[in-house]
Amino acid sequence: MKKSNLTLKILLAMFFGLVLGGILYNFNETSFVDKVIVNGVLDLLGGIFINSIKMMVVPLVFVSLVCGSAAIGDIKKLGRVGGKTVLFYITTTAIAISIAFGLASITNPGKGLILENLAKAEYKVGTADSFFNILKNIVSTNPIKSLAEGNMLQIIVFAILVGIGISVLGSKVEKVKNLFEELNVLVLKLVEIIMLFAPIGVFALITKTFATLGYGAMFNLGKYMLTVVFALIIHFTVTYLGMLTVLGRLNPFKFMRKFMKVITVAFSTASSNATIPVTLETVQDDLGVSKGISSFTIPLGATINMDGTAIMQGVATVFIAQIYNIPLDLGDFVTVVMTATLASIGTAGVPGVGLIMLSMVLTQIGVPVEGIALIIGIDRILDMCRTAINVTGDAVCTTIIAKTEGEFDNEVFENEVSKISQIA
Ligand code: ASP
Repeated sequence: MKKSNLTLKILLAMFFGLVLGGILYNFNETSFVDKVIVNGVLDLLGGIFINSIKMMVVPLVFVSLVCGSAAIGDIKKLGRVGGKTVLFYITTTAIAISIAFGLASITNPGKGLILENLAKAEYKVGTADSFFNILKNIVSTNPIKSLAEGNMLQIIVFAILVGIGISVLGSKVEKVKNLFEELNVLVLKLVEIIMLFAPIGVFALITKTFATLGYGAMFNLGKYMLTVVFALIIHFTVTYLGMLTVLGRLNPFKFMRKFMKVITVAFSTASSNATIPVTLETVQDDLGVSKGISSFTIPLGATINMDGTAIMQGVATVFIAQIYNIPLDLGDFVTVVMTATLASIGTAGVPGVGLIMLSMVLTQIGVPVEGIALIIGIDRILDMCRTAINVTGDAVCTTIIAKTEGEFDNEVFENEVSKISQIA
């Protein structure tokens, strides 16, 4: 199967899922269709797809990061790449949230809305770990437990250490090095095979989401939703495509064409973490980024770089503050930018986590956290959109860093046929 065929199939699957989901929404909760099709067959197919890519996350991140850091070898280079990555991620997040604030101050999504008319729901406040605790806890006391729990930051630190150890010991641990390299080939192959089922998985996930939510949810709170979506689009086109063109000197359309399948998986799973295997496979095999760089920057990005989430938080903050009639000043904006950026470091890229982070942000500037209840109903749809932006941000930064490090293969980038086409 040609790669473009697979991407096209996934896109068609998404489209049909959207249409069928809207139709199935009209069936009663106790109906046969709802019980057997939506919560039976679709739930099963979508669940198997999500589970099978999640199954690959920990082995892939661990094995490829060990190989990557063993290959980089030079600790100075590792530190330089790490520093650049974090700087890139923080800068793009700050740009994202500024776009969100700018746009929300123009559209004023919460002005004129009367609180009593909006649905009242309970929202439990999330608690934030202190910044120093987050830093302390990136070093695991039990790596096996970290692997079992999928604690990404701890896995990253442990894998880097193992990689450095392998590189320092050199020929003494040749067999261990070879073992990791062969395991790396194996897990990547498994990801490619799983991706062949992506059209079915994506179709089932999207159909089920819209069969449960319907389209109606999108029209309530329309201004808020549109502001978030518009800010996401601006960040995508101006920041990302601009960075690729100016800093990366790459054709952004080629990049996007190759990256499309990752976007669809992120959209349908609403989880950057679950998307890691597909993101890694694509940046390495289709975009031409070296394993050494991407195996480090992609898992790190999925955990600490959430531009789409930051955009939602910026707009939501303005929206909720306006509803409660609380004026925000420049100091509040700065606090939101800092809290949102730091909060994203300690939280994993899984569905719905953005709302928990939002509760930390609102607490910091004294806006009632209960306001989150107003946007919960439609959050899933926005979660899907912002996750697509989150993973794109990781890949764009990764590609540019790889270019600056001379770890980018232009031939692979220019090539239209990807590896995945060779296994089908
Ligand atoms: N679902 C998002 C992600 O995985 C996080 C969020 O905004 O809730 O990237």
